[in-house]
Amino acid sequence: MLLHIEAVCLAALTALLAGPASAGLARARWTARSPRAALVLWQAVGLGGGLGVLSAGLTLAAADLAGQWVAGVAAVPGQWRRFGPAGWFGMGITLGVGVYLVSATATSTMRILADRRSHRHRLALISTPLEPRWPAGREMGTPVRLVDHPHAVAYCLPGFRPRVVLTRGALDVLDAAELEAVLAHEQAHARGRHDLVIQPFIAWAKTFPFLSPGRRAVGAVTLLVEMLADDAAVRRCGRAPLHSALHKLRDQHLAVGGADTDAWRRQLRTRITRISAEAPGALPRPMSALIYGAAFVLVVAPPMVLLFS
Ligand SMILES: [Zn+2]
Repeated sequence: MLLHIEAVCLAALTALLAGPASAGLARARWTARSPRAALVLWQAVGLGGGLGVLSAGLTLAAADLAGQWVAGVAAVPGQWRRFGPAGWFGMGITLGVGVYLVSATATSTMRILADRRSHRHRLALISTPLEPRWPAGREMGTPVRLVDHPHAVAYCLPGFRPRVVLTRGALDVLDAAELEAVLAHEQAHARGRHDLVIQPFIAWAKTFPFLSPGRRAVGAVTLLVEMLADDAAVRRCGRAPLHSALHKLRDQHLAVGGADTDAWRRQLRTRITRISAEAPGALPRPMSALIYGAAFVLVVAPPMVLLFS
């Protein structure tokens, strides 16, 4: 009976994380004051939700075979013929969701890798190396490629050999300090492997495209890694150059008819507001520690409860 209750609690935890918890986290304002802690919490929400649904089904199946979780799970491979309807239902959930999750993650990862490979090939054809001159000791490691195009664009093409891509339009509008701030931002994406941070959430969204939590998580996590890269640029160059660079890139982008979606506008507005001098500073350390602690408990507590039940 105890295992049945735990299976229901795990299913409820998954629903809570995928629903109200992720919606609340996506709306929270404090995340801008500590994007790293917020990212860790998002990862815990995603991992906790995934493990929750898989272990809810397994627990339901184990409950048909033994009174204790470890003994029940250990008996599943040899005694699955003893499953009742609840056991079959639980095993079906675990296997179905597990296989779907793994295959959707593998498919989306392979698609992203293929897109990136073809992007790299096209980029090699239409770009030339750019070697900005930095003061001694302030060089950046990631190679920069210049594309001769009037739209002002700067982005990082991630991978084992990352590239920072800059257009002629961006070079035309940025002064030296602003250019350094923009390149520091893109370099932070490459160095921090932010693509790997976002990838599990993209897989989550692609696994359940009919549910909003995945899409919501991708939007929130994408903004958080932008904030992390902004913080790296501010540490290197100060607030002012990045602030004016974002304004100029936005204005030039709009002037030449670049993509102008609500999400793009909102994200840029949030970033510009956040790095202004009046924006509230980072969260106090005890508060950040509390968030990291909550993330740890979210991932570790449910398996611990199962192991000792
Ligand atoms: Zn960025």
